[in-house]
Amino acid sequence: MKPKYKRVLLKLSGEALAGPKKTGLDTETMLPICQSIKKCVDAGVQMGIVVGGGNFWRGRSSQNMDRTRADHIGMLATTMNALAVADLLESLGVDVRVQTAISMQQIAEPYIRNRAISHLNKGRVVIFGCGTGSPFFSTDTAATLRAVEIEADILLKATMVDGVYNKDPHKYEDAVRYDRLTFSDVLGSALQVMDSTAASMCRDNEMPMLVFDLSRPDNIYDAVMGKDVGTVVAESESTDENA
Ligand code: UDP
Repeated sequence: MKPKYKRVLLKLSGEALAGPKKTGLDTETMLPICQSIKKCVDAGVQMGIVVGGGNFWRGRSSQNMDRTRADHIGMLATTMNALAVADLLESLGVDVRVQTAISMQQIAEPYIRNRAISHLNKGRVVIFGCGTGSPFFSTDTAATLRAVEIEADILLKATMVDGVYNKDPHKYEDAVRYDRLTFSDVLGSALQVMDSTAASMCRDNEMPMLVFDLSRPDNIYDAVMGKDVGTVVAESESTDENA
């Protein structure tokens, strides 16, 4: 079976790497995620990955600290996650490069768009650390930015629920899941899909997004194969279907 997408940008939240303790890194939780990523690579899909840092630090939640400095710590947290995911993928035999938006050349390559694309064309996974490199942004926005820059076919946003709901399905039994939405719907509502900076960037650059559940890690593979695993957010039918 042929994958639906040639090149994707996968957004993994820090929380997804933390497992039951909800903090730090849990190899048992990360392994099936990395195995699913390897299956995508083996199927010929080019994979860029943006990792969050919320399992270690969130700038906006820090109290009594200058926000810019708190966000610098958050960006370093994303890099810890990027290195950990890279290490696990390498142990599975996947060729990986980490690129960071803030230079730390002793441990990772600096982010250079053309070099990232060259790695992807060679079948290497590229993990982007440090978010956008600027404070006051989120890794959702970084994922959108990198997806647009590398000309990904779709942004895959792995979450803890199997799509977008009209209300929190963990709290409300009568919550209804959407199959499809537009970014304008997201921006015009209180739906907690992604922050408005990221949503408007997706909308303005016609970057479709698939929101799906990572508690079944093989959904990453199923998503790239085009199976119906979550909610598609796209401004028009064509942005998704032409991928
Ligand atoms: N961050 C930042 N600029 C960026 C991306 C992230 O300053 O472009 C910081 C910010 O402090 C954020 C933290 O890194 O709280 C971790 O990122 P995020 O909260 O998006 O991680 P996630 O919730 O996806 O784990």
